[in-house]
Amino acid sequence: MPDRTHKTAAILSIGDELTLGQKLDTNSKWLSEQLVMRGVTPLVHVTVADGLEVLINRISALAVEHDLVVMTGGLGPTADDLTRQALADAMGDTLIEDEDALRELHQWFEGRGIAMPDTNRVQAMRPTRARCLKNERGTAPGLQGVVGETDVFCLPGPPSEMHPMFETDVVGSLRPEIKILTRVMPTVGMGESAIAQKLGDLMDRQRNPLIGTTASSGVVFIRMRYEGSDEALGATLLDEAKGQVREELGEHVVSSEEESLPEIVLSLLTERREMLATVESCTGGMIGQVLTSVPGSSSAYAGGFVAYSNEMKVGLAGVERSVLDSVGAVSQECCRQMALGGREGTGADYAVAVTGIAGPGGGSAEKPVGTVWIGVAGPDGYESIRQFRLGRDREQIRRRTVTNALAMVWMAMTGKGEMPLLWEVFNSES
Ligand code: AMP
Ligand code: MG
Repeated sequence: MPDRTHKTAAILSIGDELTLGQKLDTNSKWLSEQLVMRGVTPLVHVTVADGLEVLINRISALAVEHDLVVMTGGLGPTADDLTRQALADAMGDTLIEDEDALRELHQWFEGRGIAMPDTNRVQAMRPTRARCLKNERGTAPGLQGVVGETDVFCLPGPPSEMHPMFETDVVGSLRPEIKILTRVMPTVGMGESAIAQKLGDLMDRQRNPLIGTTASSGVVFIRMRYEGSDEALGATLLDEAKGQVREELGEHVVSSEEESLPEIVLSLLTERREMLATVESCTGGMIGQVLTSVPGSSSAYAGGFVAYSNEMKVGLAGVERSVLDSVGAVSQECCRQMALGGREGTGADYAVAVTGIAGPGGGSAEKPVGTVWIGVAGPDGYESIRQFRLGRDREQIRRRTVTNALAMVWMAMTGKGEMPLLWEVFNSES
């Protein structure tokens, strides 16, 4: 193996199923995360179809530009599995049969009580100057070779086989030049551009730690990343940066850990031994779903009602029929009664209710698609009922509803109920 450090990496995904859009390339995402965590920076992701020429060309070109190439796929036993041959060609090498790999292949089939089909024999082939990597979960051994000066790893396509092989055979061979430390702070109530304006120079691309943002359904994550050789210095600089971000964004920062909004809300509830209930119309149970996907949520989430039809809003949540008849289900008063009814009906400390028009039909001039009311009822008569316009796309509207509902619960619990939220309508009906 060359002893040059692995500063940059390329990830090469192989398979017609990927280029034809039949299957999502999750391997590149996973591998990049793993490499970044270990101080090796992937600069390119390349996806190619099952073709010998294109593969040889890509491997050769990527090896010129990067210190490490990690490829997945194309190690199966069929004619479209061309990684072995392509690696050999890129290395200027030929294929031989690896005795150990062949023995392991036979054992793999014997262990399952079947004779090895002849077609699988090809999986024991490797370039003469490459080595086979043992596959504990399947038949395809991986390969490790060198093209020019660049280390090249070929791993199987199925994630369940690829992950353990990466951990066993690639991680130990990584030679990062630098350490990378990261921190994440989730915020609510401000858009990315408003945050960028507030943070100003802190987001300068030349800084170390580098500060950037990513947005996901209404939560903006402030991401900080230190790159350098001094880990202790990195930790200090990151703490400093976190302090500066907190100073600028104040109460919009909802946690100083990398936590999702459901996790933040649930841990606050658990800490205070309080319970939350949900009354969902346009989200049909999505708020309950994201809450219950957090392990241990039963200590803080009581459950709730999916009150989709008007009948259910009356029957389950106790909304007055006259409210539905006069102002309709997507209204401040209906939302308020849903929240109060949810709290009363479940005995929870807080209830959050959502009712809106997710579209594509059902909108009007007065209540266009995307109109959503979100309400929280809490102890001591606490009520906060707010209107939002959450876009035009049904799924986006529903996802944003979930996020803003959780943000409102968090605000109710932390005394920040007055804080403005993204997509909020301020001149709302009363
Ligand atoms: P292969 O090693 O080419 O025989 O890949 C076998 C299977 O692994 C494919 O049918 C896919 O289901 C899966 N696979 C291959 N490449 C990827 C990838 N980049 N991301 C996720 N799954 C993959
Ligand atoms: Mg394939």
